[in-house]
This record gives sequence, structure tokens and C-alpha cells, in this order.
Amino acid sequence: RNGRNLVSYFCNESDTQQRVVAAQLLMLSALQDALQRNEFFVEYQPICDLQNDKVVGLEALIRWRKADGSIVPPDQFIPVAEQSRLIVYIGRWVIEQVCRDLPRLQAAGLPDIQVHVNMAAPEFLDDDLPRELMAIVEAAGVDPARICLELTEGVIMRRIEKTLPIMQELVRLGFEISLDDFGMGYSSLSLLKTLPISSIKIDRVFLQGVPHNRNDCAIVRTIIDLGLNMQLRIIAEGVESAAQLGFLRQFDCTQVQGYLSGRPMELHSLLAQHGELSANLTVRPCPPARHT
Ligand code: C2E
Ligand code: MG
Ligand code: MG
Ligand code: MG
Repeated sequence: RNGRNLVSYFCNESDTQQRVVAAQLLMLSALQDALQRNEFFVEYQPICDLQNDKVVGLEALIRWRKADGSIVPPDQFIPVAEQSRLIVYIGRWVIEQVCRDLPRLQAAGLPDIQVHVNMAAPEFLDDDLPRELMAIVEAAGVDPARICLELTEGVIMRRIEKTLPIMQELVRLGFEISLDDFGMGYSSLSLLKTLPISSIKIDRVFLQGVPHNRNDCAIVRTIIDLGLNMQLRIIAEGVESAAQLGFLRQFDCTQVQGYLSGRPMELHSLLAQHGELSANLTVRPCPPARHT
């Protein structure tokens, strides 16, 4: 992680540290096996447009089904995979899976659906990324415009001089880019105007305080305003209640994603019920909230 061309000494600072390293190595080799045994799968969570209450996008979220049937969420293995090149192979697997699923979604009456795919930093520092992604979508006959790559501020800022040209190349090839977990990083606002992004996703921690917490409401409104003024789409994440939805409608948020409009689900369940996916969205804006 510290780069090449240097020597580092490992010292057993403590038992705990040693155990952490050992556990990570075990996890890495288990992940390698999981990839080989095809134990990963993707769930899709709907992203709904507030203009017409239709599902316009899906976020692809990876899960790991272990041999014993238990399911491991990404937060428990992606950070470990990110410590090695394995994340690149896992990331490629996700894109390939999405490209296998996209034609089925389109055939099932969602011709313009866009699938959002999360990308980790090591994937995004790889100069081969644009060429490889293009090869994958071309082989599957998928239009790159149907794929939106989600990056966090952390990923972009880590090596902005490297990530920016890669982002520009991807956009030139027709992919879209979304800034994920917005507000959680520490990038300057001026960075926004230099990035070739088409949407920002408001992190769900800010939605948690809507509509009762004055500060969270102010932050969410400000991000929506900023995004709209920059001609970006704004996607609110973690929308669970009608009150949150009412607030977002009132301030012209573009799109929402959360348990209210749909949980992440496997392709077959999604195809079975996509007609009903936006039913929960047809609620009226609620009266302005009283702030605490
Ligand atoms: P994220 O990209 O911010 O994804 C949104 C997370 O919020 C997902 O958790 C989703 O299930 C959860 N979520 C959505 N709506 C709600 C809601 O209304 N309430 C609550 N409490 N949670 C909601 P998940 O699937 O556990 O993924 C966690 C993180 O793991 C993702 O955060 C993303 O950073 C990472 N991740 C997931 N799939 C991939 C992948 O294929 N590649 C990479 N590199 N990272 C991934
Ligand atoms: Mg995401
Ligand atoms: Mg997010
Ligand atoms: Mg996240």
C-alpha cells in the first residue's frame, strides 16, 4: 500500500496486531477461493426518479454466500480485498456480472435502465481500467452509457493527478461517473467543478437526521442546491421514510435510493416485481418539519 521501491520492516508490536494481520491473510485466501468457486453474487437496489416516480437506475451491491450458506456483507470483506490486487479481480467480476444481467433487465421492460457499480481505489489507479472495462462491455454488447461508476471522494482524492485522467477517459468512452457518499470526505467544493461527474449521492448519514434535525436538513438542502446549480443529478441514499421523501421532494432532489422504494434484491426477485417497485413513492409532500 505504501508503493513500490521501498523496504519496510515488520515488527510484532503486539499480539493483537499479529492476530489482525493473520486474520486478514486468512480472509484474503478465503476471498480468492470464493472467487474461484463463484460464491459472490450481486443484489440490485432501485434508484427512483422523483419527476415521474419511475425506477431509472439500480445499484449493484456485491455479497458473498459462503459454503455454509451464510451471507457476508461487503463492508466485511471489500476493505480487506482492497489491501491486495484481489479487489481488481473482484471488481472485474462485478462488472462482468452486471453486463450479463443488463440485457435481461432491458428485455424485461427496463430498456433505459442504468446500473451503478462501485469502484475501489486500487481499481481506479489502474491505467488499464478504461481499456479493460471497454473490452468487457463490448464483449457483452452493452452500451457504456448504461453503466455508471460510483467513486467516493476518498478514491478520487488519494491520487487526483492519476484518477482525473482515468475519469476523463472513461467519460470519453461513454461511461458515467457518480460521486458516492458525498459529504463524508474532505474534498474541497472547488474540486466538484473539475470532475467529469454526472451525479452526486448524498450519504445516508445526513438523511438520518431528516426532517427533525436542523443541521442535517441544512446540509441536505445545500447539497441539493449545489448539485442542481451545477447541472448534476442528486441521488439521496438511505431514504427510509415518507417524511424524508417529502422533504427531498420539497427541495427538488432528483432521485432517491433506500428501503422506502426498495431493498437490494437479486435479479430474479427484481424481475418478478419491478412493476411494483415505485409504489411506495406516491406519497404527498409532508408539511414543513418543526426543527429540533
Ligand atoms: P454504498 O455504495 O454507499 O452502498 C449503499 C449501502 O447502503 C448498501 O449497503 C445498501 O444496502 C445500503 N442501504 C441502501 N438503502 C438503505 C436504507 O434505506 N437504509 C440503510 N440503513 N441502508 C441502506 P451494502 O450493500 O452493505 O454495501 C456497503 C458498501 O460496500 C457500499 O456502500 C460500497 O461502498 C461497498 N460495496 C458494495 N458493493 C461493492 C462492489 O461491488 N465493489 C466495491 N468496491 N464496493 C462495494
Ligand atoms: Mg455506492
Ligand atoms: Mg453510498
Ligand atoms: Mg459507502
